Amino acid sequence: MSFAALPLHAALIQRLAQLNYQQPTPIQLQAIPGIIEGKDVMAGAQTGTGKTAAFALPLIHRWLQHNEQPKSPQVLVLAPTRELAQQVNASFEQYAQGTELKTIALTGGNSQQAQAEQLRLGIDIVIATPGRLLDHLRKRTISFDGLKTLVLDEADRMLDMGFQDEITDVLKRLPAQRQTLLFTATVDERMSRFGRRLLRSPQVIEI
Ligand code: AMP
Repeated sequence: MSFAALPLHAALIQRLAQLNYQQPTPIQLQAIPGIIEGKDVMAGAQTGTGKTAAFALPLIHRWLQHNEQPKSPQVLVLAPTRELAQQVNASFEQYAQGTELKTIALTGGNSQQAQAEQLRLGIDIVIATPGRLLDHLRKRTISFDGLKTLVLDEADRMLDMGFQDEITDVLKRLPAQRQTLLFTATVDERMSRFGRRLLRSPQVIEI
């Protein structure tokens, strides 16, 4: 099956051809249609399965369809580490190359003031580690009033690293009415419990 069989914007199909992505991976085939429809998703998928594109492509697709002004964050991706947040940001940039989509990685190690200035200028998609995101939320340099979708990437690693309280704190500051996508390498009882707290009638995908 080719990418053209998925309900993705023509600009994205073209970009994927340039990147020489010949066909969607199983997680992409299963997750992309539901994410475009606005469903919550719980996906058990390891790194290397194409999980990043499985959420990035449908979220860019929706942005291309409803490109709104003024820019305020519509998507928040939470990731356990600075490295992963930066990788995910690079993936969004790669897939959205040639568009006006603005993304930012909010992680420690970069100037918080410079990040605040970039946020002030308008950002569509925020990729963040929980700690640095909370710094911005507490200083009110970011607002998620217009948030549509929350993605928890490598949620199991975030729990392993002890981010549960930080995540709970972030969640309190997000609109309750939103789409939530949970990606995890392991699906065990702890993750199912976490998912039940966060997700509404999710589509469950296990690769
Ligand atoms: P991930 O599982 O998100 O870490 O992605 C693993 C690697 O697979 C990344 O380098 C992606 O660029 C690449 N990739 C993702 N989807 C596809 C695809 N459909 N065809 C070819 N490569 C892909």
